[in-house]
Amino acid sequence: MSTGDLDQLAHFPQSNGKQPWRARVVTLYPEMFPGPLAVSVVGSALEAGLWSIEAIDLRAYGTGRHRTVDDHPAGGGAGMVLRCDVVAEAIDAARKDEPALPIVYASPRGEPLTQRLAAEWAAGAGLIVVAGRFEGVDQRVIEARGLREVSIGDYVLSGGELAAFVMFDACVRLLPGVIGSSASLAEESFCNGLLEYPQYTRPREWEGRTLPDVLLSGDHKRIAEWRRAESERLTRERRPDLLARHGR
Ligand code: SAM
Repeated sequence: MSTGDLDQLAHFPQSNGKQPWRARVVTLYPEMFPGPLAVSVVGSALEAGLWSIEAIDLRAYGTGRHRTVDDHPAGGGAGMVLRCDVVAEAIDAARKDEPALPIVYASPRGEPLTQRLAAEWAAGAGLIVVAGRFEGVDQRVIEARGLREVSIGDYVLSGGELAAFVMFDACVRLLPGVIGSSASLAEESFCNGLLEYPQYTRPREWEGRTLPDVLLSGDHKRIAEWRRAESERLTRERRPDLLARHGR
């Protein structure tokens, strides 16, 4: 997929028309949701019905009187592992009316979350995220339910819920109507394979620092050129891997 395609995914209306984009999370802690997703632009979009969120309580599918969801690792070792039968039942419930929704297991072992992946998900009908806990989930359910493992970074969180927040937020802000100007999305970091240029606002002078002259010139062509050059400079300095990935 080219970066041009990525722009299209990010800015064109969903194929399914009026249905809200559906976020679902399989979690031991459903009370965490919508949490931070209930505020700001993403929260307003939730209230406006542009997207919906549903937390599927893993505990409800636990076994026995105590609704047990985990057990000791086969082969021994520290911690506990979420049982495959329990996780599978919860996933099947989450997918019941939407068998085609993409489904992800939030996992530090997974492929990195990227803007491109978020744009792909945002262009579809929604996303199901399975949030792990303890040492993670039994490998067999990952294979049997075709879970795509996705990581939000090279560090270990105590649970997948924070990763689910990140994934949903990255998708929802790309939905049509969530952010006022689609131009601001088009110029953001990663959208064209570059980091965004530095931003400034008032006051004109602050603690002896002035605005770059070009931004006061009113010359839109020069401003665009300056921003592009700054984007390239920052990307070269901080993320040469992005330039290499986009063949620059
Ligand atoms: N034992 C696992 C390992 O070493 O790969 C880590 C398990 S972690 C304590 C518990 C859960 O947090 C994981 O099952 C996963 O759902 C989530 N998690 C932790 N770090 C994550 C990351 N970087 N990206 C996405 N999910 C993460």
